[in-house]
Parts: sequence; structure tokens; C-alpha cells
Amino acid sequence: MIIVIRPHTPQEQVEAVIHQIIQLGYTPNPIRGEFQTVVAAIGDETVHASLESLTALPQVERVLRVQKRYKLASRESRPQGTVVDAAGILIGGDSFVLMAGPCAVENEEQLLAIARSVKAAGASVLRGGAYKPRTSPYEFQGLGPEGLRLLEKARAETGLRIITEVLGERDVELVAATADILQVGARNAQNFQLLIAVARTGKPVLLKRGMSMKIEEWFLAAEYILAHGNPNVILCERGIRTFETYTRNTLDLAAVASAKLETHLPVIVDPSQGCGRSDLVRMLCRGAAAVGADGLLVEVHPNPAEALSDGQQQLDPDAFAALAADLRPFAEAAGRSI
Ligand code: PEP
Ligand code: MN
Repeated sequence: MIIVIRPHTPQEQVEAVIHQIIQLGYTPNPIRGEFQTVVAAIGDETVHASLESLTALPQVERVLRVQKRYKLASRESRPQGTVVDAAGILIGGDSFVLMAGPCAVENEEQLLAIARSVKAAGASVLRGGAYKPRTSPYEFQGLGPEGLRLLEKARAETGLRIITEVLGERDVELVAATADILQVGARNAQNFQLLIAVARTGKPVLLKRGMSMKIEEWFLAAEYILAHGNPNVILCERGIRTFETYTRNTLDLAAVASAKLETHLPVIVDPSQGCGRSDLVRMLCRGAAAVGADGLLVEVHPNPAEALSDGQQQLDPDAFAALAADLRPFAEAAGRSI
């Protein structure tokens, strides 16, 4: 950490800061200029108390961090990258992975029809919420355990792996018994008790970026799952809230590129929540593949106009098949096969 002391601070007040730095477990290296002193405090920030509280001292102008706050997730700690094995489907390796299915599991006919069609189009993972977080809590919140049973049925018939959301700590065990990948949604991305609970299952966890979450906060949440002993973390960019209302959210492809650069974790893009409009999904999928994402999470419904949730952004099966068919050059441009 670098501690910048205000210009013209009397020597004894500089010494008081240095004393405090030692108290907090760091070794101070003062660099004394003509008017201003800067102190480089050497120590492992993950072991010692944070020095940021020193800004409370009136003679301290600024405290700057040198080390990254996320260590386990950082690319330096695993330059080769992480490949997550979701019941035999490898995410983060050479293959571009398609995860697709309805926003919510609605009934058996809907789910099985979609499972068959997305599989035929090349998907390897079926998505579908049995537990649904909603913008308004008065809307359809999912079928719960019955939805999980239908997901199991679809897996048994098609061989697709299952990704489904877990909304609360008390459901973790039940959802993990069905899911091959646990989805932690945008509204829960900083629910740290839930992150501990999903970490403990050891199952792959797809961590959505919260809608108002800074990139570093997203990495720190991923770090928290890693720190609780689960190395199978997948990041998912799903758009953030901005001033823009033309699209439901603003899909942040710079965050995808940053996540690939800064962390060793696989990164998936959800263009459906990302823009909230079915007419933009195909183009955003191309962009995601070309920017270097490891796969997509796309909402597909047999009849979007009748969907119980997110109908405006779901693709019909033909549109999904067309999208999947023309992704290859974009994925290949970023070094992945499809
Ligand atoms: C979803 O995937 O349907 C969903 C609710 O996602 P998010 O948590 O990104 O809003
Ligand atoms: Mn949805």
C-alpha cells in the first residue's frame, strides 16, 4: 500500500502515521520529498489489516492499493486458465459451450420440446429456472421442486446437463441434488451467505454479475466462492443497469474481456438478460463469441409470446438453431471450436 501524506505535514505527524503502519503489521518505507512524504507500506494485504482506514487521519491525503484484492481468482495465480467440468461438459477449454432453454420451467411439454430442439441445435447444457427471482415479487416465481423434477426428466431423455438457479440458502441442498451447474443470479451475486452455501456443495457455480456490480466486485464475489473451497466457478456477464432504457440492460463486453484478462475463470455471456430483446440476441452472441467468451446462456421458449416470464427476450427454437449455426466463425476467431 502507498500512503500519501499531505504536503507540509509536521514531522511528528508523519511519524504518527508511520507508527500506525507498524501497529497494523506493515513495514514502512518513507520517501521524503521537499514538501511531501509518501510511505510505501510493505506487507501482505490479505494477512494484515487494511491500511485504508488511515485516510481517517487528517494528515493522510490518500491510501493506494498495490496488490489486487482478489488473489485466488487472478490470472497470475493460474495462467493456464481453469476448465470447469460440469458432469463431463468442459467449460473454459477449447470448446465454445452453448447453454440454452427457457427462462422458467413452466410444464413438461414446454421443457421437453425445448430440450430436444436446443440439443439438436448444438447445446450441451439445458437452462431453466425452477426458482425464479423476478423484478416484481408478484409475478410467477417458478414451479419449485416440481420444476427440478422436470429438469431431471429432460436430462434423462436428452443427456443435456442442467443449469438452474438457486435463490436462497435453504434451497441449496435440494437444487444441488438436481443441478449440474448452480446458477447464482444477479440479485444474489453479493449474497455472501448464499455464496458460502453453494461453495460447500463443490458443484460448478455460475456466478452472474449483479446489475449494479463493478467488475472488481464481481471478481471478489467469485474469489469468495474459491476461498470457501470450491474451484469450479464460472463467471457470467448478463448486462448492467445504466441510464440506457432502449435495452433492458447494457451488455458489457468489456467486462468479458477484462474477466478473461484478469482472472483464470471461464466466462459465459447471457445476452438474453443482457439486452432484453429477442431481436438483438443473435448479434450479441456473435460479439460474445468473438470477444473470447467461453460460451453462452440463451433463453429459448417454444412460444415466447406465451412465456410466463421474460417472453420479450426469449428466442423461438428456429431462431436459436439459426443463431447456433452461424456462430462458428466468431468462436473460431477467438480460438474456440464449436
Ligand atoms: C435468468 O437467468 O432468468 C435470470 C433471472 O437472470 P439474472 O439473475 O441475470 O437476472
Ligand atoms: Mn430470464
